[in-house]
Amino acid sequence: MNIILLGPPGAGKGTQARKLVDERNMVQLSTGDMLRAARTSGTEMGKMVAAVMDRGDLVTDEIVIGLIREQLVAAQSGGDIIGNGFIFDGFPRTLAQADALGALLDELGAGLDCVIEMQVDDDALVDRITARATCKDCGEVYNDNTKPIPADGKCSNCGSSQIERRADDNEESLRTRLMAYYKQTSPLVGYYYAKGDLKSVDGLASMDEVAGSIAKALG
Ligand code: AMP
Repeated sequence: MNIILLGPPGAGKGTQARKLVDERNMVQLSTGDMLRAARTSGTEMGKMVAAVMDRGDLVTDEIVIGLIREQLVAAQSGGDIIGNGFIFDGFPRTLAQADALGALLDELGAGLDCVIEMQVDDDALVDRITARATCKDCGEVYNDNTKPIPADGKCSNCGSSQIERRADDNEESLRTRLMAYYKQTSPLVGYYYAKGDLKSVDGLASMDEVAGSIAKALG
């Protein structure tokens, strides 16, 4: 089963994707994580996208489609991975990316089973993002108000001390990211609705309730 998690920054896509990986053994493909890894390892592409990401703008379609293509082709040659299915997290974010994903899946003889739209209101997003910290090693998400970083600074999930705030998790960059979402990504809601693939869930409910709604949507 191949699915897309669609929603604005802070909607909880990464958190729910990780749950699906644990529970269903699916493969998470997060373009945001891939781009951050490219920055950390200092590749030419990583250097090129750093300022764009910090500002909160979208990097070019060409770059992210190339990243997804690489992963899908690698998974195809790995054979069995494709059987468990992919969770596209933060991709596609534009209509051109959505078309490219459809074509790539066609090429691989695979399809898209469901697009989950995670609905969250903007005030909640600002609160979530400005209070957010993430474990660099396992992706566990903390929130200053609802789930503070443990007093010893170590991740409660994996014990790592690498809990960090993202450079783009500030109010100014968030405004740009939200604008990019409404201008470039939200048209995908209509796009996938028209294709008959869209299911919407309330992203403001508790993490387990959202997971339950997603499980129901996936059938
Ligand atoms: P995310 O971790 O999904 O919030 O992504 C962080 C940043 O990476 C975004 O604000 C964009 O700058 C960039 N990015 C991630 N995915 C995409 C994408 N599909 N298209 C364009 N830019 C992306």
